[in-house]
Amino acid sequence: MALFERDHDIYRDRDALREDYQPEELVGRDEELRTYQGALQPVINGEQPNNVFLYGKTGVGKTAATRYLLEHLKLDVAEYDDIDLTVVFSNCDGLTSSYQVATRLVNEFRSETNQISTTGYPLGAVYEMLWDELDDCGGTILVVLDEIDHIDDDSILYQLPRARANDKVAEAKIGLIGISNDFSFRDDLSPKVKSSLCEQEIHFPAYNATNLRAILQQRADVAFHDGVLNDEVIPLCAAYGAKDAGDARQSIDLLMKAGDLARDEDTERVTAEHVRRGRRALERGRIKEGITGLTEHGHLVLYALLTLDLEGEAPIRSRDVRPRYTRFAELANRDPLVPRRMRDHLSELAMLGIVSVTERNEGRRGGTYREYALDMDVELLLSAMAETVELVGMHDSIEEHVDDPPVSATLDDFE
Ligand code: ADP
Ligand code: MG
Repeated sequence: MALFERDHDIYRDRDALREDYQPEELVGRDEELRTYQGALQPVINGEQPNNVFLYGKTGVGKTAATRYLLEHLKLDVAEYDDIDLTVVFSNCDGLTSSYQVATRLVNEFRSETNQISTTGYPLGAVYEMLWDELDDCGGTILVVLDEIDHIDDDSILYQLPRARANDKVAEAKIGLIGISNDFSFRDDLSPKVKSSLCEQEIHFPAYNATNLRAILQQRADVAFHDGVLNDEVIPLCAAYGAKDAGDARQSIDLLMKAGDLARDEDTERVTAEHVRRGRRALERGRIKEGITGLTEHGHLVLYALLTLDLEGEAPIRSRDVRPRYTRFAELANRDPLVPRRMRDHLSELAMLGIVSVTERNEGRRGGTYREYALDMDVELLLSAMAETVELVGMHDSIEEHVDDPPVSATLDDFE
């Protein structure tokens, strides 16, 4: 008997749910696409292109819309002999400075044997090389910089759109399309960058459940065999997606997770139960990632709050978390942080969505204070905090929540 057998009962084409899949049509983005298309119209007219700034949270279709429109633009521009269009697409994830972006762009235009090193030149020299490459290429050049919020300085966002006006290039007509996942990025740009980059601004709002349903249905038609998905699967994935962040990527991931669970079980249909379990599994992954990224004191603060919450003490003020945190820090052989820094950790946990915060009024004396409580599944948190529990010891309150309590670590001398 073969060790590996094909299991194609659930999926027709699972790859259609993957990150790199580009759908042929985008659904539910008509208005944004119309605006975006209008902003690109000068290219077809043979005019100097607009600079475009696209922004919105992750997973709302910014990259997909850009790829979709630029594919069409490239096809349609071929009908006109007098336009020579070049598109350069660069994702800035992993790049931190204008310098790195500029060297990446120079190398995009150069042959493999003629690449420049990514360090060692003055910035001005790299820009000179870039202008030379752009002018050598000539015609209309659209430079797409995706996820520009990763770049720390905005020099390239000023230099590129202004290259022609500043007489850096004479031949090429350059348009910059900048895409940002970060809302505040635009507000932090200097006025001169804003006025050159943001000639055309297009905001992509989060998706609602109806949008997400249409997007998921389109993907499911390609990815799954007919009749494999129970009726409530797509609406449920869409509802979760809309509640979380209106992020299409996250919803598609959830659908794939549900499909995988069904496949692993060798069942014939994907059910709502698979979606719920899939969501828990994905959430577990996200939280694990969030918790792993915290510092040791972050973990100690979280452990302290968790035990107090289990004892029914939450919502609780920072100063009342403190004694237990201090105790845990001592047990872990760490110097406790000052109250203010400890509170910063509570705020960070709140930002990660692990802890909830309530503002309260101090009564007649005026002023407000904050109370904290866990906003997460205890088992889930504990599974991500095993190391801290090991270090501090097991608090009585968590014992029943741990599958297999290591006896040696029980904290019987506690308080
Ligand atoms: P962003 O760049 O805004 O973070 P993406 O463009 O990468 O988001 O979209 C995330 C995922 O959702 C991609 O797989 C994309 O193909 C899909 N997607 C987003 N919007 C749509 C849409 N309107 N129609 C179909 N698929 C979409
Ligand atoms: Mg993107």
